[in-house]
Amino acid sequence: MDIIHTTSDRRGALTVDSPQPELDHIDGQKPSDHCAVVGYIGDEPAYPFILSSLKTLQHRGQESAGIATFHASSINARKGMGLVGEVFNERTKDSEYLLGNVGIGHTRYSTAGSKAMENAGPFLVTNTLGHIALSHNGEITNADRLRDELLKQGLTFLTSSDTEVLMMELARDISVHGLNGGVKLAADRLKGAYAITFLINDKLYAMRDPLGIRPLIIGKMDSGYIVASESCALDINGATIVRDVKPGELVEISRNGITSILTVPGKKLAHCMFEYVYFARPDSIIDNKEVFQSRLNLGKALARESPVDADVVFAVPDSGRAQALGYAQESGIPYSEGLIKNRFSDRTFIMPTQQSRTSAIRLKLNVIQSEVKDKRIILVDDSIIRGNTMNHIVALLRKAGAREVHVRIGCPPVVAPCFFGVDMKTKDQFVATGRNLEEICKVIGADSLGYVSVKGLVESIGMGRDSLCLGCVTGEYPSPVSEEKYPRQKELESFTP
Ligand code: SF4
Repeated sequence: MDIIHTTSDRRGALTVDSPQPELDHIDGQKPSDHCAVVGYIGDEPAYPFILSSLKTLQHRGQESAGIATFHASSINARKGMGLVGEVFNERTKDSEYLLGNVGIGHTRYSTAGSKAMENAGPFLVTNTLGHIALSHNGEITNADRLRDELLKQGLTFLTSSDTEVLMMELARDISVHGLNGGVKLAADRLKGAYAITFLINDKLYAMRDPLGIRPLIIGKMDSGYIVASESCALDINGATIVRDVKPGELVEISRNGITSILTVPGKKLAHCMFEYVYFARPDSIIDNKEVFQSRLNLGKALARESPVDADVVFAVPDSGRAQALGYAQESGIPYSEGLIKNRFSDRTFIMPTQQSRTSAIRLKLNVIQSEVKDKRIILVDDSIIRGNTMNHIVALLRKAGAREVHVRIGCPPVVAPCFFGVDMKTKDQFVATGRNLEEICKVIGADSLGYVSVKGLVESIGMGRDSLCLGCVTGEYPSPVSEEKYPRQKELESFTP
């Protein structure tokens, strides 16, 4: 079988490779999701709808962005490093190049493969099927083994990305066995998480892995259909939700509607609980559950499970807002704004010293003195990963005269790596690894600390435990991880707060 890579560079497309921005130090304490994917087909040019969707989904990946459209018998693509607005703007005149009424888009945060431009999506290939472009959110846990197998069969790879492995597997299997047989075979061989949108020439497809780890939702617009990682991207384009792509389902989306081609059955469901806790935007609805309500419920559960006598509830802005509101509603303790975030210091540099890190926090956050002085404060956030940021915020509140600071967290302790598309790769990153509740409390410098329980988490999201992935808080994964990664899983220590 003849497979020729047709990256945007080789096709001569205009490509911007803007300087790689440094990760923001404060936000860098939070785990990052892998990517966002988008697709559009309809009666109007695809580019504007895909662009606005990617901007709406920027929170899912800030390293690179790309769009591929089908026009005049070929796929044109453009991708670059940086934020969506840095890669695509008036100066780059992309609407003149990315013509056509069908296309896909991608934003990336690398969790597998390097951060190089070559790994930016969408990925492109040409084989006997024609031109293929693919965007991927998730992580293929057996990508290394599959890559070796495909190499032995004579296929070549241009990048270190697991997405290229996924695309080559799909492209090979579909061209040999047809769409149904090929996708079934590929789904059998691919392990891990994948929510994908892809073009085969002018046809738009979307698929989720059988566990349904990452979200994917379809909306209807006046001019056609849009599919995206989160429903907020549908809202921004005036689309109404039609439905989620089902776990294991491959759909073809055309101007006339949605055709379910096949559904590969899974043994169970494993929707990522962190989508509800932190990753997804609160205004999104994922698998019929509104993210904001889940977070509000988490705050309420936290108030029931970890009550404390205090004067006021604050959120760590902006990540802990809904949970803090829920805590306040359930406890009857007033909610207030005690910490103000500087919205325009979003992309500061990684600070090498303790002093400069503290300055970075000060650049990012400030206190409202009257709300803090002499108060017993409950400080709520969605999660703690490393603990350094929380330590700085608690110190900031104390310096401003807080009498007591009680930290409450709307997620159980994160103690295990994620192998399914989230940037939490080693357990030594986590403040909760090898520490009990009292020891973590000491690290962050709080008067008391409480986490929501796994039971509280599951009930707050409103799905059964069997429908969720809880791997990073329990160490029990829904899918086997590759052999080279497995020892880390076996090393996990149990943690009981
Ligand atoms: S391990 Fe955690 S972050 Fe990763 S998919 Fe599972 S719940 Fe989500």
